[in-house]
Amino acid sequence: MEIKALVLGDIEVNCYLVSTDKAAVVIDPGYRCVEALEFLKNANDKERLILLTHAHFDHIGFADELAEITDSKIAIGEKDAPALLDNNLNLSALFGAPLSTFSADILLDDNDEITVGDLTFKVIHTPGHTVGGVCYLCGDTLFSGDTLFAGSIGRTDFPGGSFETLKNSIKRIYTLPDDTVLLSGHGGKTTVINEKRYNPFVRG
Ligand SMILES: [Zn+2]
Repeated sequence: MEIKALVLGDIEVNCYLVSTDKAAVVIDPGYRCVEALEFLKNANDKERLILLTHAHFDHIGFADELAEITDSKIAIGEKDAPALLDNNLNLSALFGAPLSTFSADILLDDNDEITVGDLTFKVIHTPGHTVGGVCYLCGDTLFSGDTLFAGSIGRTDFPGGSFETLKNSIKRIYTLPDDTVLLSGHGGKTTVINEKRYNPFVRG
């Protein structure tokens, strides 16, 4: 499995391009990006999918257009689906650039497994930053969205946010093996053991 991180937009969201010989997956295409587009376009002999960790504008902004051009499907946690259709919930109205709203093709629940080619992503529902935020576990890598960052945690002051709920979600992430690599929605990579030991907001 190859993973490439792209940093997109003013808010510097991490968009991940995940690929094998049989699969091409884009996680959180928040802003228009030629490289993500070419990545999926060039993978027309592979299974393709767009995975969204949650429905904030900086993670979803390019998803619909990308899906349409490359004939790919979009998946998101079920409880965040309404925010794709609501520019107040997805914060795009607040941050000044309302999105053309869209729907996802696949709605995911806690513990679901979604297979793309030879890759399997396990869905872990991690509410707290949003009501329907999810993390995706693929092998020993967790795409943690805005739930947990290197040395920080997601904001809980947006609609649907709750620190207590987020804390429980993070505690659940801390039950994964210590060497699990965390690739989050913003900032650099980290591991479960690093955050358990040093995260200033939630310790394991
Ligand atoms: Zn967010």
